Amino acid sequence: MMPFDEAYARMLAEVRPIRESVAVPVSEALGRVLSEPVIAPADVPNHANSAMDGYGVRSIDCAGTGPVTLRVIADLPAGDRLTNPLWEGEAVRIMTGAPIPPGCDCVVMQEMVRREGDRVTIPPGRSIGENIRPAGEDIRQGTAVLPAGCRLRPPHLGLLTSLGLAQVEVVRRPVVALLSTGNEVLEPGTPLLPGQVYDSNRSSLRAALTTLGMEVLDLGVVRDDRERIAALLRQAGEEADAVITTGGVSVGDHDLVKEVLGGQGEIHFWQVAMKPGKPQAYGRLGQACFFGLPGNPVSGLTVFLLMVRPALLRLMGAADEPPRQLRATFRGRLNKKHNRMDFIRGVAHFDPDGVWVETTGAQGSGILTSLAKANALIVLPEAPVTLQDGDVVTIRLIDYA
Ligand code: AMP
Ligand code: MG
Repeated sequence: MMPFDEAYARMLAEVRPIRESVAVPVSEALGRVLSEPVIAPADVPNHANSAMDGYGVRSIDCAGTGPVTLRVIADLPAGDRLTNPLWEGEAVRIMTGAPIPPGCDCVVMQEMVRREGDRVTIPPGRSIGENIRPAGEDIRQGTAVLPAGCRLRPPHLGLLTSLGLAQVEVVRRPVVALLSTGNEVLEPGTPLLPGQVYDSNRSSLRAALTTLGMEVLDLGVVRDDRERIAALLRQAGEEADAVITTGGVSVGDHDLVKEVLGGQGEIHFWQVAMKPGKPQAYGRLGQACFFGLPGNPVSGLTVFLLMVRPALLRLMGAADEPPRQLRATFRGRLNKKHNRMDFIRGVAHFDPDGVWVETTGAQGSGILTSLAKANALIVLPEAPVTLQDGDVVTIRLIDYA
């Protein structure tokens, strides 16, 4: 059996990032990956402005030890500006965001002053730059604000807009073909006969792919039939950037994905020393990278999370995102007897005084409720181990997005 870390590294090495890019409106760029760095075309903010509602003054006028009274010469709401400078003895009423007029070098909070008619009395102890946001405080013109490979999240879109950019260059969306295999696997809508199961894999995987921003080429369910599997995989290899199948990669008589692929592409079948998800297949099928997941619903989705998701992020040009792992206190009892790395579905509780984790209960690889409840995987190394209350374990947070 191949150790998990080795399988992970070798599987990732099969993936070649997509190079083609497209321009999309910023409003539609959520989740997309930048294909080139974004260079700031201008300063943000583009002018020095007030950080407070208050009074703009010349700090030199207020340098004495006592309060001074100044004459208010203008009222500056955000959006207005004053082009003529402040002279000695003058102040300006100024609102948050309004540009600082020439000569003014200090904004005094309105809570600190006394206003009477067109006069305002300012307490002593002012300093230069007080409550002023300088031009370029956030972003300086010409700097690389976001790197290539950045997955665009809500603040990134705001940032691009703050620079005045309406469009952004992103990596083309990967097309991912998705195929379920198995004589017993059925689309919902017809009643099940004994021995049949509904195709839960394609349902969760399609959603996981959509969440990642992939374009899904849904190839449906195929029976364990050499010719049909061969035809669908040929189509997938021609039309998709990545192909995901579930089922048929184990050692049973009807595990044909394995057999068919051997002839069509460059495929490696691995027994990975992990639980769930021992049998897996990776490689290339035509232009596409190939991921053959085990059929058991928990195994398929867990292998997707641990292996395929990082590979797809790489395919879409995203910078590597290391898994979010942390130490947690285990509560419960657990006896691991096998020699594979174990990824146990758990519920992590983020209490103010620390993180603790419990299992979701029964861990069979057909028990999809265990993944539905889980927000973390408890990672246990290959060697057998017994866990009890208070033991410290490593957990990986489950991330679909
Ligand atoms: P396999 O990997 O093809 O040997 O399948 C292992 C187990 O997973 C069997 O019990 C299958 O019935 C089940 N299974 C396979 N594909 C699916 C699917 N798409 N949805 C739900 N269960 C499946
Ligand atoms: Mg099968």
